[in-house]
Amino acid sequence: MSDLNYWEPRSLLDAVSLLANLGDQVRPLAGGTDLLVKMKKGPINWKGIVNLKSLTELKGINKKGETIMIGALTQISSLLENPLVQIHFPVLVDAARSLGTPQVRNLATIGGNLCNASPAADVALVLLMYEASLLITGPNGSRKVPVQAFYVGPGQTVLQQGELLTAIEMALPPLNSKGVFYKHGKRKSHEIALVNVAVLLTPQPGTKQIARARIAVGSVASTQLRIKDAEDYLTDSLATLSVFEQAAKLAKEAVDPIDDVRSTASYRKQMVGVLTRRALVEAWGGDL
Ligand SMILES: Cc1cc2nc3c(=O)[nH]c(=O)nc-3n(C[C@H](O)[C@H](O)[C@H](O)COP(=O)(O)OP(=O)(O)OC[C@H]3O[C@@H](n4cnc5c(N)ncnc54)[C@H](O)[C@@H]3O)c2cc1C
Repeated sequence: MSDLNYWEPRSLLDAVSLLANLGDQVRPLAGGTDLLVKMKKGPINWKGIVNLKSLTELKGINKKGETIMIGALTQISSLLENPLVQIHFPVLVDAARSLGTPQVRNLATIGGNLCNASPAADVALVLLMYEASLLITGPNGSRKVPVQAFYVGPGQTVLQQGELLTAIEMALPPLNSKGVFYKHGKRKSHEIALVNVAVLLTPQPGTKQIARARIAVGSVASTQLRIKDAEDYLTDSLATLSVFEQAAKLAKEAVDPIDDVRSTASYRKQMVGVLTRRALVEAWGGDL
């Protein structure tokens, strides 16, 4: 660690040109709660870090028309306190609350949770469920990527050399939408998910018909997944227990987990079914 070079650019332009010139030799640093852990575990194959902390233009939460923009350097703790997020994206608040401890949440950023590309990431899973778009700036300009197209594999994203994630954009969901986030781990708190599930249901006002359904699951494939088959099945269906059970079955069939030190694949698959059913019932909330 002591031999590492260190840069602290003052503007996005400077950060991007530094990263583009230094290439694979360096890594951007946001809150450091993933990167510093990786560096301490070692070995690492880079020679310096570019600390993003002075890029104030990458911090903050603002409403722009019918969308919300969240700067990539916004801390996870800020999501918990923000009234816009609380009103329009309550499931994001639940996921943020489940991430680490207060000390970790004060350092960790929303952008870091996405760019670390862990299949178990909690906040990133809910951003997938809310169909976020990611704003990226690099040496060749800016581009927008839907979050479902951001991941290439575990720990890998579509970010090219010199590119930084700058902001997350989300359309405000209909106000009658109701969502739920479940994180299943071995402990009640301070735990990385064995399986996490996020759902959002939008009823047709005044009816039992489901106008829109979103389901995302994590820790059960090489990247986080939207369960399109189950979403399509739910859309326009009447909300009943058997409909939610069938959607949960489709979710279970769609995932492809692996055995690892924390859980078996078959347990994870089973839990996708259990948690999806439970989340749909809780999100609907009314009589079934
Ligand atoms: C004790 C502990 C508990 C944790 N618990 C949880 C948990 O419950 N749930 C969970 O999901 N995570 C958890 N984490 C992981 C971590 O806190 C989160 O993933 C966090 O959001 C990472 O954000 P960061 O700002 O610290 O990222 P960093 O560590 O700074 O960066 C992570 C990666 O993203 C890259 N990066 C960061 N920002 C950008 C950017 N704007 N553009 C391009 N690349 C970028 C970095 O180069 C690095 O590769 C935990 C970590 C610790 C240490």
